Formats: sequence, structure tokens, C-alpha cells
Amino acid sequence: MSISHRARPEIQAMAGYQPGEQPAPGQRVIKLNTNENPYPAPEVVLAAIREQVAGPALRRYPVPDARPVREAAARAYGLEPDQVVVGNGSDDLLTMLLRTFVAPGAKVVAPAPTYSLYGTLTAIQGGTYREVPWGVGGSLLIRAIADADPALVLITRPNAPFGFACGLDQVSALCRAVDAPVVLDEAYADFADDNGLSLLADHPNLIVTRSFSKGFSLAGLRLGLGFAHPEAAAQLHKVRDSYNVDALAQAAATAALDNLDAYRPNLDAVIGERTRLAAALRERGLGVAESQANFLFARVPDGDGRPWYEALKARGVLIRYFPEPEELADGLRISVGTPEENDALLAALDAVSAG
Ligand code: PMP
Repeated sequence: MSISHRARPEIQAMAGYQPGEQPAPGQRVIKLNTNENPYPAPEVVLAAIREQVAGPALRRYPVPDARPVREAAARAYGLEPDQVVVGNGSDDLLTMLLRTFVAPGAKVVAPAPTYSLYGTLTAIQGGTYREVPWGVGGSLLIRAIADADPALVLITRPNAPFGFACGLDQVSALCRAVDAPVVLDEAYADFADDNGLSLLADHPNLIVTRSFSKGFSLAGLRLGLGFAHPEAAAQLHKVRDSYNVDALAQAAATAALDNLDAYRPNLDAVIGERTRLAAALRERGLGVAESQANFLFARVPDGDGRPWYEALKARGVLIRYFPEPEELADGLRISVGTPEENDALLAALDAVSAG
């Protein structure tokens, strides 16, 4: 007999996180649905991985606290290694943050729309998840978040899935207004005009998370960084899985952080294509939100995105369609691809609208 009824009630009640759809094995698609980077990581990073495979790394445990990566991150971003925690993807850091700061029943608050994993992680932890609409705006938004008495605040900057970056002054004001950790999820910051790392010096309750899946072209390896006050970082280290970052990922991360300049052409190409693709979509009558990330949120003229998503999928172009929640309903999210991939998307859109 199944013992599923013995699962904790909050686990039974939740749906679980729904990641973006994967193409069938062997199916050739233009994959613009999960905000990966369309370009490979620089050769120096790939070489570092190959070197690990050739050596003893796979049969040895990796460095438990990823110290070499933390040192490389500290060098790259002008911080101290004690301010850095490394995760198995930035999702792993989010899990650590929830485990560290959210007791059962405590509140997690996020301006929304935002990354849907936050609600799932809160449910797993037995916490209560509250969203405050971004539309509330300015000091009222900060007041609404503070009044909710959060144990943890989660802000995505640039936002997902719209792509806008809220003011850094707003992040500072929020850090001052709440007596709780404020997590700035900067998964997409490598594509943005600025970021919140410099705020760490003034706000001991600020924690910044970064991903290697977007700007660093390493989604398949799973790597993320967390930056925090050393005392907060020390708490996070206690809840890490024992060897949470594997040896190949540690070698790749160190090489990437020591060679940030090697990523510049790749990042500039994505940012340039973001501008071109947004203009081309607007020319075709779609409404496109301003984006500082590597994706665009768009609405089709008649409002119903589903037939467009389906028709593009039938033509081998995979994008993301949001049936819900209400603020996103019927919207489309398109990852910025290579010029060829973006041209193929535009050609498919033209074919769909020509009927
Ligand atoms: N934060 C946001 C806002 C994201 O969109 C994503 C990607 N789905 C992540 C974090 C997780 O990224 P990673 O691959 O580093 O776990």
C-alpha cells in the first residue's frame, strides 16, 4: 500500500514546481522558453572542465565549502571570501535561505509577479507565502512588505518574467524598512545596466544571489553564488548539503570568475539582440515590456497568447506561455536567442499571422 498519505500535509497539498517544458529526446527545436544562454561558455571555462574529467576529480569528493570558487568570486567582485556562499544553481541558494530564515508558519513576502519557485520553497518549509503586487509601487510597496511582518523578503531584479529592474534606491529603502533578510535575486543581472552588489556594504540584511545559468552559459552544470554579510553567510553554510557543488562545477566557476572579460562579447550579443528582437516584435504589433534581462515578455494584439504559442511550437519554436496568474495571463515570454534563432522566431510569427 502506498505511504503517500504519510507525506507531510503541506507536501501533499502542493503541486510542486513546474519547470519549463523540455523538447522530446532527439527533437530539434529552437528553444526560447527557459532563458538559457544561446552561446557556449568561453573555451577557457570548457578547458577547465575537461581538465577535471582527465584528472582524479570524479572519484574524489569536491571541496565541501567551495573555497576556491569563493576566493575567485571575492576577487572578481571586490568582496571577501567569507561573504560568499556557492550553490548547486541559485535555486539551491534559495533553498538554503528558506531553510535558514523561515521557521514553520513564518512569512515570506515577495513583490509579484515573480519567480514561481519562491512559493513552492516556502510551502516545503511550512511557511506562509504572500505576494504584494509591484503595481502598488514606491513607498506604498515598501510599507506593504514591511507591514506583512516578513521573516524573509525576496525581490527579483531584473524582474521575472517582465524583465524590468526596480530602482536600487527602492532596494535600499526596503532593507532599511524591514527587520529581516532581503534577498535580491539577481539571476539575470549580467544582462542589466547595474546591480545591487554595492549595496551590501550599507545593508547587513541584504543577500544577493546570482546564477551561472544565464550570463555564464552553464545551466547544465548548476551553479549559483550568494553574497551576504559574513555572519549571515556563516549561517547559510550550516544548512548547505555536505558537498553541494561538484568538482566540475567548481572548476568551471573558478575559470569563469577569473575570466569575466571572456564573457563580454557573448553578453553584448544577447543585449544587442534583445533590442533588435523587441523592436521587431513591436513592429509586428505585439506589446513588449522593457527588459534588462535575456528575455522579453510580450502580448499579442488580440490578447490570447495560447494559439500563438501552440502555432509556434508546431513550427519548432518553443517559447513560454503563461495561462496564469492574472497579471501574466495570456502573456508570452521569449528568451533572446542567437540572431539566427531570433530570425527563425520572427519568420514563424509572420507565417502564423499570415494564417
Ligand atoms: N531566479 C530566477 C528569477 C530565475 O528565473 C531562475 C531560473 N529559472 C533562477 C533563480 C534559478 O537559476 P539557477 O539555474 O541558477 O538555479
